[in-house]
Amino acid sequence: MASSLSTKLRIAGSVLFASGFFDAIAGRFLWSPAARQATGGDDGAETDQSQPDRREWRDWAGAIHVHSTYSDGGGDIPTVMAAACESGVDFVLLTDHNTQRPLRDNWEEKYPTRPLLLIGTEVTVEAGAFLLALEMPPQWEPEKGRPPQEVIDEVIAHGGLPLISLPFDVKHPWREWEAQGCEGLEVLNLSTIARRHINLLSALWILPLGFFAGQRAALKALVTRPDAALARWDSLTADGKTSVGIGALDAHALMKIGKKKYAIPSYADTFYAVTTHVLLPSGLENRNDLRTAIHDAFRRGRCYFSYDCFGDPRPVRFTAKSGSEVAIMGESIVRIGSAVTLSASAAPGTLLRLFHQGHIVAESRTGSLRFEAREPGAYRIEGYKIPFRLGALCLGARPWFFTNPIYVRPV
Ligand SMILES: [Zn+2]
Repeated sequence: MASSLSTKLRIAGSVLFASGFFDAIAGRFLWSPAARQATGGDDGAETDQSQPDRREWRDWAGAIHVHSTYSDGGGDIPTVMAAACESGVDFVLLTDHNTQRPLRDNWEEKYPTRPLLLIGTEVTVEAGAFLLALEMPPQWEPEKGRPPQEVIDEVIAHGGLPLISLPFDVKHPWREWEAQGCEGLEVLNLSTIARRHINLLSALWILPLGFFAGQRAALKALVTRPDAALARWDSLTADGKTSVGIGALDAHALMKIGKKKYAIPSYADTFYAVTTHVLLPSGLENRNDLRTAIHDAFRRGRCYFSYDCFGDPRPVRFTAKSGSEVAIMGESIVRIGSAVTLSASAAPGTLLRLFHQGHIVAESRTGSLRFEAREPGAYRIEGYKIPFRLGALCLGARPWFFTNPIYVRPV
């Protein structure tokens, strides 16, 4: 009863104080002082073309965390995959609640080429929180309501990949941060972002926008930087531990208004809004090879996630060089000599921010950044679209993409 009351109070607070609305407004103003500019900044320096990584990667964008009629989604799997074709994503990760029946029904085999279909499940653990269980044996069926640590241990015992789902959900947030063995979390979750906007002020703004300009315009308007999840992610990696961050949807294409059900927002509109980009070795064509490579990219953090509603961010590069060694996002590199050279690049004009242990240590407004990292720890990049600038003030800023960290290790 007590937890039910606290949930109601939390939702009421969100509605009354309109925190999501104010976050969205405040996030459109960024301060970018010259003191933080790194090499490759606004001085017109040559953009960094000396990316040291010689390996070839294929960047695939995936719609992550999607529900179908196998649980509480509004559409069947052919509907989901038709939306994937329409929105142009390269793969879909279906995670129906507490079941792997679609995997046993061989739906993956019906979509062996782009867009590829991968199937995992979303497990409801104790206190209503959620855990994604990926790459599990088809016959495994989860049991609802068990302690998170038990479920994590079971997933690992089966060789699967456990990831915290909806960590900052308004109704059922993740509380077991001390649990061991979880490989990462949904740092960005579109459903959580949207729920934080269900309040009195945003209703005056989002509802008319959705009605007159369409669902995609409404989704773009409510986009915010996921501050709390990013702070938690940074704290998880602060002691050198690796933790994988992904961007997810929790797409249902189902909204109940009274007794009626509507496909709002549609699968295609949500797929258009947020994707996780995985970096895959080039040359893979076989479905099983691609499936393995995508899961491997999740496990290693060889990925970044983005608000694709502001445009396809590809290519996004983030590399590190130390002596003759190179690393990309998700990988570790040992510092040889006094520093590791970090390089990042994206579309020209993108504001790139380099974070170390949760703090901005460098940024560039040209879409290219280079930085000599002397301190060990986790370094990651955030990219922003900036339509207007007034000196150091960036106006109309929109968060665009977030890379997984490169981990600089001491000798
Ligand atoms: Zn879900």
